[in-house]
Amino acid sequence: MNGESVFAKPLGAAMQHALDYVSGVGEGDVDARVSLGEVRRRFDLPLADGGVAPEQVIDDLVRGAEGAIVRTAGPRFFGFVIGGSLPAALAADWLTSAWDQNAGLYVIGPAAAVVEEVAGGWLKSLFGLPEEASFAFVTGCQMAHVTALAAARHAVLERAGWNVEVDGLSGAPAVRILTSTEQHVTIPRAARLLGMGTGCVETLPCDEAGRLRAHSLREALARNGGRPTIVVLQAGDLNRGAFDDFRTLIPIAREYGAWVHVDGAFGLWCAASPSYRWLLEGMDAADSWSTDGHKWLNVPYDCGYAFVRDAKAHYASMNVHSSYLVQGEGARDQVDWTPEFSRRARGFATYAALRQLGRGGVAELIDRCCSVAKALVDGIGSLPGAAALCEPLINQGMVRFFDPAPSATEADHDRFTDQVMAGVRATGEAFFTGTNWHGVRAMRVSVSNWQTTLSDVERVVDCVAGVLEELRRPGRR
Ligand SMILES: *Cc1c(COP(=O)(O)O)cnc(C)c1O
Repeated sequence: MNGESVFAKPLGAAMQHALDYVSGVGEGDVDARVSLGEVRRRFDLPLADGGVAPEQVIDDLVRGAEGAIVRTAGPRFFGFVIGGSLPAALAADWLTSAWDQNAGLYVIGPAAAVVEEVAGGWLKSLFGLPEEASFAFVTGCQMAHVTALAAARHAVLERAGWNVEVDGLSGAPAVRILTSTEQHVTIPRAARLLGMGTGCVETLPCDEAGRLRAHSLREALARNGGRPTIVVLQAGDLNRGAFDDFRTLIPIAREYGAWVHVDGAFGLWCAASPSYRWLLEGMDAADSWSTDGHKWLNVPYDCGYAFVRDAKAHYASMNVHSSYLVQGEGARDQVDWTPEFSRRARGFATYAALRQLGRGGVAELIDRCCSVAKALVDGIGSLPGAAALCEPLINQGMVRFFDPAPSATEADHDRFTDQVMAGVRATGEAFFTGTNWHGVRAMRVSVSNWQTTLSDVERVVDCVAGVLEELRRPGRR
C-alpha cells in the first residue's frame, strides 16, 4: 500500500484549478468567450464503455469549461441579482460535499442538523424576525416561496374549515393571492406549483416609487371579503429595490384576516444594516418571509431561506413520517420543514459565511454594495448620451442610453441601450443585463458581490464611456 488515498489526485487537481480560478476571478473577461456550438463540441463525447482516471476527468472538465465560465462570482458582474462566494463559505461548501451528509434527518447528520438550527437562529436575529418563527434552508428564494406559501395555503384554508393536506384543492374554497405589479415571477410560479394556479394571483397598482398602494389593497381585500387570502409584499424589487410600506399595509391585511408573505430575496438583508433597516420597518409583523443566501450573503449556489411565524402551519404543510425514519429525538429533523426529502447539508456554508462576516461584516457588505451601486449609476448616468432612470435606493439602479440621431425615436433608444449593454459585455470588463421598465428599455445595475469595491467604479464607468463614445460616433452604426 503506498498510502495515498484515491481521492488525493482528483481533489488535489480540483483544489489547484479552483485556486487558480478564484484568485483570478477579478481579472480576465467577465463574459464567456466561446460559442454554444463550441461548448457542445467540447463536452458532447460519446459515453465510453471504459472509465477514465478521476484526475483526468477533472482536468478534462476544466479544459472543456475554459472560456465558458461567466465570472459571475467576480467583482464586475452586475447582471440579474447575483452574489459570489465568501472564502469561508466556499471552503465549507467543499467540506459539505466531502462529508456528503444527507441532511434530512438528525440521526444521519447530527452536525448538519445542529449547524442549520444555529444558523437559522442567527438569520432570524439578523433580520429581526420573531424568535418563535420556524425556518427552512432550501435551494433559493423560488423554493422559499413555495415552502412559505404552502404554510400559508394550509393556514388560510384551515381557517375556512378545509384540510388541504388531506383533501387537496379540488372543491376547496378558492384561495387568492394579492400582490403588486412589481412582484417577482417566482410568486406566480409558486402559485402554479402549489396547485392554486396563476389565475389566483391579482396584481394591484403601485405608486410612483413602486410601492403597493394602500387603498388598492384595502379595496381588493374588501371585494370578496371572507375568501382565504394571501398578501405578498416585496422587500426590494428587481429594478429599483423598492420596498412596500409594511407599516401601513400589514395592518390592513390583518384587518381582513389575510396571511402576509414578504419576498425579500435580497432586500431582507437590509434589515442587517443600521443604515438601511428603516426600509423594513413593520416587516416583522408579517406571517412569512423568503430570502436568499446565494445573492447578498455570498454563499455558493444554491441556498435560500424561508421563515414562518406560525411554526405549526409550516410543520403541518411539510412534515413527513414513516416507520423507517428515525425521528423525534429532541433534534430538528430538516425533512419536516423542507419540500425535499434527501438533501444537501446547506447549513454549513451559511454558518461559515455568517461567522466570517459577523454582524458588522454583513452590515458593511450591504452598505458597500449600496454605495457602489449609487456611484455606478451616478457615474454612468452622467456620461453624454446616458441618463439614470432611478437613483438606487439600495443596490439596484437603472440607466438608459440615447441614440444620437436627431430623428431617433424611443424604439431607437431602446435598441441603442441594448447595443451599449452588448458592447460592454464584448469588452470583457463588465456584465450588465436589461429590463423593460415603464415601457422603455433600461440597463440594470445590480451590486451584491463581496469583492466589488468603489475602485471598480472608475474602471467600469470608463469602459461604458468608451463603448458609448464609439457607438455615438457619426456614421458608426
Ligand atoms: C432572485 C429573486 C427571486 C428568486 O430567487 P431564486 O433564489 O433565484 O430562486 C425572487 N424574488 C426576487 C425579488 C428576486 O430578486
